[in-house]
Amino acid sequence: MQDEKVVRTDDEWRSLLTPEQFRVLRRGGTEPAGTGEYTDLEKRGVYRCAGCGSELFSSADKFHSGSGWPSFTQPLKAEAIEEHEDRSFGMSRTEVTCARCSGHLGHVFADGPDPTGLRYCINSVALSFVPEEADEG
Ligand code: FE
Repeated sequence: MQDEKVVRTDDEWRSLLTPEQFRVLRRGGTEPAGTGEYTDLEKRGVYRCAGCGSELFSSADKFHSGSGWPSFTQPLKAEAIEEHEDRSFGMSRTEVTCARCSGHLGHVFADGPDPTGLRYCINSVALSFVPEEADEG
């Protein structure tokens, strides 16, 4: 079921994720800027959560922010993500997590382009890109 929460133990997540995926998704880590495989990707498709497969972002909302991380103006659906105040590292930021598995995705900032003015700054390693299918027939 798409809307059921995914709850797993750390040991279960460790067996399902790469060490870097675990560090980011389950420990709130951040991949080094400019190292992610999706930062400059322009293909059409959907970005799913690398933890649970939930559809999170669309290539239609992706833009080049110059930050070194994949950036989107909005999620595919508002319900797909959750936002939380994050005061770690002496900063006040808004953390973005997957609504289905609670995995850490990145942060959202108010310096994005139209139409929302928002910049969802998301770790590539927290995402799994699914290219748009070619039209059949
Ligand atoms: Fe998820």
